[in-house]
Amino acid sequence: MICNICKHESLPKYTYKGWWEGEGSAILYECTNSLCRFIQIDYECDQEQREILDFLGLRDVRKTMTKPSKSIFRRVDFFKNYLVGKNIVDLGSGCARYEQALDQSEIKCNIKSVDFWDWAIEYCKDHMNKTVLKYDIENEKLLELGEGVFDFIISSHTFEHVNRPTEILRMWSKLLNKDGHILIEVPDTTYADTSIADEIDIWFSGLHYSYFNPDNLELLLSTLGFDIVHKFLDPKGTKHCQTIIILGKINK
Ligand SMILES: [Zn+2]
Repeated sequence: MICNICKHESLPKYTYKGWWEGEGSAILYECTNSLCRFIQIDYECDQEQREILDFLGLRDVRKTMTKPSKSIFRRVDFFKNYLVGKNIVDLGSGCARYEQALDQSEIKCNIKSVDFWDWAIEYCKDHMNKTVLKYDIENEKLLELGEGVFDFIISSHTFEHVNRPTEILRMWSKLLNKDGHILIEVPDTTYADTSIADEIDIWFSGLHYSYFNPDNLELLLSTLGFDIVHKFLDPKGTKHCQTIIILGKINK
């Protein structure tokens, strides 16, 4: 396999069997470029199985995540100056936790929350009277939201769920205007090589396709013409599941 970020060779590192009711297998590939080490997962299943898995994984993980966490409030506060008065889109919003946090922090802005799953859309409608727009964030139909109209994209724990992250980020960047920013939060796999087999059960349950470290995430953004404005690790995370937070500004 070719690395989706740096185009070096990626080699199979681990085969995982029986990740869903004892069926199917998945192979984890790691980029051989020591400056990149991007990890991508190849699931051996058809599209229908994949959608069921996506649903099961995300439903279980996200159904508990209906209210904004303290870390979301911290992020909203830290990035306030980029958010006030702006056109924002949250790609893969789940239960619109960023939109809730912005409301509760009284940050005036225009935010669109976008998610694929009906349970999330219905939850927001029933419990908050909020509209979440239904789009598959990996499908170009997403560009119906408007090319060049957004100041800020939020991608909170969604980017690790996309296959071919370089192509997807290129597509997303069309949504941004010439001074647009993107905030990406993903799990950090810097230390994953020794523990990946132990942790893999948890990771597969969320049906992740891509695993990043701070270096390859920066490389990916730079390759697509973003300047890195902020890059840090969530200090509240543990060694194996801390979060990378990166803010990029597009150079159009
Ligand atoms: Zn690579």
